[in-house]
Parts: sequence; structure tokens; C-alpha cells
Amino acid sequence: MGRSNAALARRADFLAVLADPDLLQLMLVACPDAVVVTSPEERIALYTGASEALFGFAPIEVLGRRAGLLFPDRDAWRELQETLARDGYVRTFELAARRKDGPNLVAAVSAARVANRFGERLGTVYYIRDHSAVREIEDALRRNNAQLSTLVARLDHLARHDPLTRLLNRAAAYEAAENVLLAFPVGEARLGVAIFDLDRFKAINDSYGHLAGDTVLEAFGTILRQQARHGDVIARFGGEEFVAFLPGAGLDEAARFAERIREAVQLRPVAIDDTITVTVTVSAGVSAIPDCAENLEEAVRLADERLYEAKRGGRNRVVADSCQQRNAA
Ligand code: GH3
Ligand code: MG
Ligand code: MG
Repeated sequence: MGRSNAALARRADFLAVLADPDLLQLMLVACPDAVVVTSPEERIALYTGASEALFGFAPIEVLGRRAGLLFPDRDAWRELQETLARDGYVRTFELAARRKDGPNLVAAVSAARVANRFGERLGTVYYIRDHSAVREIEDALRRNNAQLSTLVARLDHLARHDPLTRLLNRAAAYEAAENVLLAFPVGEARLGVAIFDLDRFKAINDSYGHLAGDTVLEAFGTILRQQARHGDVIARFGGEEFVAFLPGAGLDEAARFAERIREAVQLRPVAIDDTITVTVTVSAGVSAIPDCAENLEEAVRLADERLYEAKRGGRNRVVADSCQQRNAA
């Protein structure tokens, strides 16, 4: 019994607080977020100490004036008002807020329309926070994310390319070629394969040094790039070995491609420095899907075998025998 009496007394105290407008106002004013209360005409009726700290305007400068003066972005303010009119409230709406002595800040506004029990509009209560720091952190995060994406893209590029010739590396070339094959309708895949190996390359390193060898490798990469067409997959397979996967090309076309490369290499001496140029040659083995092989692995194996045939046959040549002849032999 004593307990419920005490509860009733507490409730009576509480109702007394609600009934006392001065006390209510004190409670609003004590809110650490800026609180602004406006009349139905959106004129500022209450402006707390936290509001003054946030906006920098003294109460006398803003009381009775339109609340919109605190929010210079007209479009954003209109949108906020439209949301309020539609929903009766807004939550954490970000927009620019005017500061008396300084640049605008990013404010997060929550607000609610207040009506009496007859539905008559009494005004609007706004709770305003400085979101500049939040925005800065979000912007920094966004920038970091963008940097991270760039970094990931760069790492991906590094992982897929040979740094010396900037061609694809072996793994990336296989992946690209498999993707090319998958893009054909089932049973219609056509891919020419040419594998190149520079002749007596060790001798270039031995005679002129490793850097000279690197220059020759770069020069060969350039020739491959110049001869390749859009869509061709050209790569450094490793060491002084290179590959070209030619989508849509049959054996003959791939053989002509390899022959063009062989000629270009022979005809284009590489300048090592101002005084030294070296002439290199290249050997190649060629195969094709479906002419000679059913899949990439088989096609590469055959092209590789043919490359060594070219070496045994005296180098500086392309081996691309027709597969029927080969089978008949
Ligand atoms: P063959 O005509 O039979 O192909 O003879 P080769 O001398 O070209 O063949 P071999 O495989 O004996 O030598 C290849 C050389 O390529 C050995 C290796 O030191 C060199 N090499 C591999 N990678 C690089 C590189 O990145 N830079 C340089 N400068 N040389 C490399
Ligand atoms: Mg070689
Ligand atoms: Mg080799």
C-alpha cells in the first residue's frame, strides 16, 4: 500500500513538471544537442545555449526570424521541409548550416512537427548536431577506399604482368586464353597458338651482359605487341620464351603470324647502347584448336614440341606442319 502511494506521488510530481512550461523549457535548454523550436510559420521561438554554441548567433539575432536563415542550402532546406510535411518528422538529415564566424558546417538535423490534441500545428522542434567530423571521417574513408581499390588494381596488374616486357605472364595468359575459349559457342572454339624462343640467347647474356639480354627481351616484346591484333593474348611465358594465343585463328593464320614475327626479329637489330647492336633470331612452334588439338593444354604441348623441332632443324624457323600430314607420317 505504502509503495503504491509513493508511486502515485512520483507520478503527480512528473505531471507537475509537464504542466510547468518553464520547467519544460529548462529541460529542452539542458539538451546538449542544439534545439530550435519554431512557430507554425517556421519562425524561431526557442533557441538554446547549445544552438548558440553551434551556430555562433546570439538568441537576439535569430529569435522571431525564419529558421531557414540558419540553413543556406535552399534546396536542401526545402527538401527537409517537404519531408517534414509529408512524414511529420525527419531523422539525421544532413545539410549545410550557417555559422556566424566561419565556414558552413555539415549539420545532421532531426526534427518533428508538434501538434496539439486537436491536430493543430503548434510548431516544429529541431535537434541539430555538428556532423562535420563525421563527414570528414566518411570522406577520408571514401578516399582511402578509392586508394585501396587503386592499390588492389595495381597489385592485380603486377601479379598478372611481366615487369620487364609489360606483357602478361604465363598464368595470366593461360587464364585469358581459357576465357577466350569459353566465349566461343560449344564445339566452335578456334585458337591459334604460337610459342617463341629466342635463339642462342644465353650467348647474348654471356657476351654483352644480362642488361643487354633484358634489352633484347624488351625489343622482342615490342615486336610481338606491334604484330598482335586487338584481342590477341601475348605473353612472356618465362625466360626468353613467349606465347601468342590468337582467337579465331586457324593453323595457317597462326603460322603466318609466327613467320611475320620471325622476319621482323631478324630484320631489326637491337641497339644495346650507342655502339653495340645485336641481331637475334627466334624459333617458333605453332599449333591450333581445333586443327591440331582439342584443348589448350594439348595445343601448347604440340606448339612446344614443334618449337624444339625448329631448334633441332637449325633455329630461326617456324614449324607449323599441317596436322593431317603429321598424322599420316
Ligand atoms: P636456344 O637457341 O636453344 O634457345 O639457346 P638459348 O641460349 O636461348 O637457351 P638457354 O635455355 O640455354 O638459355 C636461355 C637463357 O635465358 C638463360 C638465362 O640466363 C636467360 N634468361 C632467362 N631469363 C632472363 C632474363 O630475364 N633476362 C636475361 N637477360 N636473361 C634471361
Ligand atoms: Mg632460347
Ligand atoms: Mg628457352
